[in-house]
Amino acid sequence: MLALDFHPTGRHFLQIPGPSPVPDRILRAMSLPTIDHRGPEFGALGRKVLGGIREIFKTQHPVVIYPASGTGAWEAALANTLSPGDKVLMYETGHFASLWNKMALRLGVEPEFLAYAGTDDVLPQAASWRRGVQPDMLEDRLRKDTERKIKAVCVVHNETSTGATSDIAAVRRAIDAAGHPALLMVDSISGLASADFRHDEWGVDVTVSGSQKGLMLPPGISFNALSPRALEASKTARLPRAFWAWDEIVEMNNDGYWPYTPNTNLLYGLSEALDMLLGEGLDNVFARHQRWAAGVRAAVNAWGLPIQCADPAVYSPVLTGVITPEGVDADALRKLIHQRFDLSLGTGLGKLKGRMFRMGHLGDSNDLTLVAMVAGVEMGLQLTGVPLAGSGVQAAMAHFAAHPAAQALRTV
Ligand SMILES: *Cc1c(COP(=O)(O)O)cnc(C)c1O
Repeated sequence: MLALDFHPTGRHFLQIPGPSPVPDRILRAMSLPTIDHRGPEFGALGRKVLGGIREIFKTQHPVVIYPASGTGAWEAALANTLSPGDKVLMYETGHFASLWNKMALRLGVEPEFLAYAGTDDVLPQAASWRRGVQPDMLEDRLRKDTERKIKAVCVVHNETSTGATSDIAAVRRAIDAAGHPALLMVDSISGLASADFRHDEWGVDVTVSGSQKGLMLPPGISFNALSPRALEASKTARLPRAFWAWDEIVEMNNDGYWPYTPNTNLLYGLSEALDMLLGEGLDNVFARHQRWAAGVRAAVNAWGLPIQCADPAVYSPVLTGVITPEGVDADALRKLIHQRFDLSLGTGLGKLKGRMFRMGHLGDSNDLTLVAMVAGVEMGLQLTGVPLAGSGVQAAMAHFAAHPAAQALRTV
């Protein structure tokens, strides 16, 4: 028997910070028959999702949808705007920023990787992985680039490996303060549709995103939101690109079609997700995630364990990373919790392997599913013999009870 053939009773608790739990409404929408991607119904679907997704990014400009994971959209952002040997300024917030940096190297551009210069008492080897982007460092570096060799600044909005949400408006202000013409490219793969994001207002040139985090879809589609400056840069950029090239896609998207076979059933899901998110209102979506995050952090604080993000100003509304005491293998803890309670937690990535785990609080969740997640983690910590200062379950319940959501879940 395959492990996947075994269906335990109740729901699996998918509490990794993406893929996030997919609402039943979306699963049902995706089960519709696959249609002709050149036919009339498809054009209507294409036009609807291409229009709706602009509202999610808060942009008036084109958003390209790729049948690819977020990593593909990272490549598309670089390949469409840069030429071989171009200098790019990146910032090390964690594992995902590091992977994007590695990709830039592979593609033949010259990334410079800035990192937080201060020290950290809890994780001295990963000080930069406990904080957000420091815009003043970017500004200083851009001011020194008197020959304007740096063509783009690339940052991660919500660093999913750590749980720090950087201030993208402040990054834009830093670039403007330096009077520098570099493009601003932002990975909001896990930030979009769960943390406040404003592509146009924040002057972002390319936003990269994906389906399986705040949009509550399965993995498989990803996005590049563009600015007029990004489109202009793509006309002279010389990195090779074919599948990822914006021009043909943007052209055919005008009528709601793609140059190749798009991911029809995921687009049904996207259509449903747009109805749900825009129907709720993005401000309500963001407030809902902030409130959940505060309840989960109350639990971690009650346990007396350090939160991976050391700067409360940039705590993520999407996930909370928890550092385990020295000598406690966070992956062994995760394995125990998975086996005993059918609850999946995010692993410590890269430099953080074995020293932390991540609790996702995004997408199709509610107070009770999050209290259950906290309960599963608390039981796992107790079984592992981790000394706890107090009950996180009690703290999360107290937080949610004392802070009612702005919108009641049921109105009758
Ligand atoms: C999930 C994620 C990625 C990677 O996306 P894939 O869909 O796995 O390729 C990149 N950056 C961030 C911030 C992410 O959360």
